[in-house]
Amino acid sequence: MKISEIFYSIQGEGKLAGMPSVFIRTSGCNLRCTWCDTPYASWDPTGQDMTIAQILEAVKPHPTRHVVITGGEPMIQSELPTLVDRLTARGRLITLETAGTVWQDLPLHLASVSPKLANSTPHTRQDGRFAAAHDRQRLAPEILQRFGRSNRMTDIQWKFVVSQPEDVNEIQQVLNSIGNVRPQDVILMPEGITAADLASRSGWIADICKQYGWRFGPRLHVLLYGNTRGT
Ligand code: SF4
Repeated sequence: MKISEIFYSIQGEGKLAGMPSVFIRTSGCNLRCTWCDTPYASWDPTGQDMTIAQILEAVKPHPTRHVVITGGEPMIQSELPTLVDRLTARGRLITLETAGTVWQDLPLHLASVSPKLANSTPHTRQDGRFAAAHDRQRLAPEILQRFGRSNRMTDIQWKFVVSQPEDVNEIQQVLNSIGNVRPQDVILMPEGITAADLASRSGWIADICKQYGWRFGPRLHVLLYGNTRGT
């Protein structure tokens, strides 16, 4: 499996924010979000091929049960079910972070699904050459519905990166297309890779969350470490 990085840090996002976790970042993504904060796993994927045994060895020393498999897009990795099974057999609790455009039925502690809104389309980055393909693929309602229905995933969260107040309309459309989403499972996070970016959007996003009963999601890792690899 092509791995971009494995590191031990604090989960910065979602229901398990604050939890010390080992992060396994797979390399490669089927999308090209314009504001992607891990371009080394998407726009310009780098990393090394590691066997499942090597990955397990890298995870082993860290004193936490929580493992986050992230990307890139981990769901495009064919060896993912084996990795999930081996980690689970060793007592690890797995969060899988995905954009929800590719499906694999996996036993997860937490499915962290982050559908990509129109604000992610790269209209100008690299002269917009990925814009059309990204727009075609960024939302897959039938896949999102499968996540929502799965009984192999103990818990689920729907995370949205929000740039502007108008994004709320598209979020409602996406949630309606999934159906039966509990408000407390919806998390809105400000777009941004600096504390100043996050602060500039946090006030009105918190107001939206209060209005709809959704959660406001800080990005603790940015506040703690800035936009730094390995955190
Ligand atoms: S889905 Fe995630 S990893 Fe892929 S381009 Fe978008 S933000 Fe980056």
